Amino acid sequence: MARVAVVTGGSRGIGRAICEGLQQDGFTVVANYAGNDAAANQLKADTGIPSYKFDVGDHEASLAGCKQIEAEVGPIDVVVNNAGITRDGTLHRMSFEDWNEVMRINLGGCFNMAKAAFPGMRERGWGRIINIGSVNGQAGQYGQVNYAAAKSGIHGFTKALAQEGAKFGVTVNAIAPGYIDTDMVAAVPEPVLEKIIAKIPVGRLGHAEEIARGVRFLCSEDAGFVTGSTMSINGGQHMY
Ligand code: NAP
Repeated sequence: MARVAVVTGGSRGIGRAICEGLQQDGFTVVANYAGNDAAANQLKADTGIPSYKFDVGDHEASLAGCKQIEAEVGPIDVVVNNAGITRDGTLHRMSFEDWNEVMRINLGGCFNMAKAAFPGMRERGWGRIINIGSVNGQAGQYGQVNYAAAKSGIHGFTKALAQEGAKFGVTVNAIAPGYIDTDMVAAVPEPVLEKIIAKIPVGRLGHAEEIARGVRFLCSEDAGFVTGSTMSINGGQHMY
């Protein structure tokens, strides 16, 4: 039977490319999203992939959402924690709400989804958790103390959970994308974006499919010895 993969924030952007890639690899794919029904309906119309609407930053809603997925689709074998938001501003201007919302969704979402799916993966002796971090969690970014802290936290979360999952056949890895041509980056003002692109050695933004290819590898049987790692896919913008 095909393995079940849940992609949070799977209705648009990088998440949608991940959904389509995992579907091509034979997974039964389920997307999650927050509120944009039109994008979720479009995904369903184009690919047949169903979407479940719940806020990954809400602990109870995430547990209930995953329970519903397991009842309707099957036990969850793969979680891709991709849902994320930005609420940019310098510390000087950033409200506690902007700090908290980004931590709650971007980092809290990883915890909530792992709490829901990890026990079943452990019991069945196979699982893949892929957390989407960011180059800005590795290098920091002006005007993003909330986002950089949450994404950096994701990288720590990944390494810690990888140690817990290893002996149960559950691998946990992160991908740190650079700047990718999605709606999130479309929100960056053009002059700022030009400066960012000038600092990317490959000389362009990345494509969502290029992140999806990394996820597809990490979900494969071939990646069984890869755990606790962070794959940087950033056009050479940050190397370490
Ligand atoms: P995007 O185009 O803005 O799409 C975000 C997705 O996340 C949407 O499906 C959205 O659902 C969903 N989402 C947002 N808040 C949610 C919540 N509380 N609960 C459930 N779903 C939620 O983003 P993207 O550019 O594809 O980015 C995807 C991931 O990659 C994010 O974690 C982002 O931080 C990371 N990343 C992106 C870049 C980049 O350059 N784009 C770079 C580094 C890292 P709705 O459509 O319903 O709102």
